[in-house]
Amino acid sequence: MDPTSIRLPSNALPADGRFGCGPSKVRPEQLEALAASQIMGTSHRKAPVKNVVSSVRTGLSDLFGLPDGWEIVLGNGGSTVFWDVATFGLLNGISQHLVFGEFSSKFAAAVAAAPHLPEPDIVESAPGDHPAPNPAADIDVYAFTHNETSTGVAMELVRPSGGGMVLVDATSAAGGLIWDPNQVDVYYFAPQKSFASDGGLWLAACSPAAVERIESIGASQRWRPASLDLAIALTNSRADQTYNTPALATLVMLDAQIHWMLDHGGLDWAAGRSQHSAQILYGWAAEREWASPFVADPSKRSNVVGTIDLDESVLADDVCAALRANGIVDTDSYRKLGRNQLRIGMFPAIDPADVEALVGCIDLIVDQLRAS
Ligand SMILES: *Cc1c(COP(=O)(O)O)cnc(C)c1O
Repeated sequence: MDPTSIRLPSNALPADGRFGCGPSKVRPEQLEALAASQIMGTSHRKAPVKNVVSSVRTGLSDLFGLPDGWEIVLGNGGSTVFWDVATFGLLNGISQHLVFGEFSSKFAAAVAAAPHLPEPDIVESAPGDHPAPNPAADIDVYAFTHNETSTGVAMELVRPSGGGMVLVDATSAAGGLIWDPNQVDVYYFAPQKSFASDGGLWLAACSPAAVERIESIGASQRWRPASLDLAIALTNSRADQTYNTPALATLVMLDAQIHWMLDHGGLDWAAGRSQHSAQILYGWAAEREWASPFVADPSKRSNVVGTIDLDESVLADDVCAALRANGIVDTDSYRKLGRNQLRIGMFPAIDPADVEALVGCIDLIVDQLRAS
């Protein structure tokens, strides 16, 4: 049967059908904040825009409970660009990379290609798991990924013994998973995932040790393209600016989401929403004979990105096509993973009740597909 001919009853549908893992659901209230904002089309060097940047920086410091001396640095280009920013402005010696999916492998590749850095040390595991770090005295930087968006694996952030800075790609985790700043030096992300805004910016929470590193490389002779220069970004961020023009709408919607989280109780509340959604999704999959969580170890299953394998009796592509025909979108597995899998965004913006409705819709679709 043509899956796109399946019609779900309207009372079974989620209130909002966006379950993508980035870009992800933007709450209507964020768009209202944008419509009400007076800053669109005005200078990013003037107080009204700088006030929004300031509000983002202090809001993130509050949300993460950052200790004294930490700073929020931001710039243009998203997390992918931050990998290049880090190779120019943070890395000095050997970096050890935990590689367990598409995104963690890309940062390692950026470092391997950088002519001014030594060969990175790669510690790898199969998708669906994550490796443990392998601490050594000569490691200058540990590169972790809080949530591997391509596979739905989350890792607990624990500083390896024996020194070395800890850099964390938190692109999909930040705002949806709990972390302890004492275990981390740089926690970087982009706003289009747990922060429900649009793409194009990178933000990095930096410890005093990281700030010192940025300043010392900034004072060195190392060649850094200005647009990727973390020392320039730090100076601009301290003035609530970016080196070049940022997307103002992204900032306004990010600020609205940060303050929505803070107004409801902060990171514990936001992460609790994702945790609730995850319990619904994984609990549902465990009860279906044709579905199972892809990540075998429950302690590594992500609360913000859920990956559910389907058995050969149900094609995930058919389920996704039927969902899309009913206004429920972006449930597809990560393209390069190549599995018969659904991948569900469960960021704080997504209502757990909508995840409950989603799994009900999948049941209805699978019943019809299997009956045909
Ligand atoms: C989405 C994502 C990226 C890439 O982010 P961009 O802003 O598109 O560059 C990097 N790392 C992780 C873990 C991601 O989820």
